[in-house]
Amino acid sequence: MVNVPMLDHFSRSELACPTTGEVRLAPGFGEALEQLRIKFDEPIYLTSACRSPGHNTKVRGHPRSLHLTVNEHWATGGTCAVDVVATDGQYRAKLITLALGQVWSVGVASNFVHLDRRSRHCGLPQVLYHYGR
Ligand SMILES: [Zn+2]
Repeated sequence: MVNVPMLDHFSRSELACPTTGEVRLAPGFGEALEQLRIKFDEPIYLTSACRSPGHNTKVRGHPRSLHLTVNEHWATGGTCAVDVVATDGQYRAKLITLALGQVWSVGVASNFVHLDRRSRHCGLPQVLYHYGR
């Protein structure tokens, strides 16, 4: 196994691809996630982190998704995105504000918040977007 992170606040199983069990994170991504969690100082529950290409297709993820463990388009070196359960308004606002301040890009959906490190790993500008219907 390569690149199995040892993170204080996130288990291997919640980071792993549900289909393959693989954990492959972009360099520094685990550390960035830990930093966010420590500053946030509240539980962060992930619904999606690593996705193998097969799993990403299965869940109809974007073909260039930053959840991908192996990304054909971006040389990320591994997954650099997570989805966080976030239904409470205050929790969402606090998480989004903090994440933006730590140069995460943020996608807001009705019941979760997508966080990724595109500006770090893809050279893309930081964005804040909403998942429309
Ligand atoms: Zn996502």
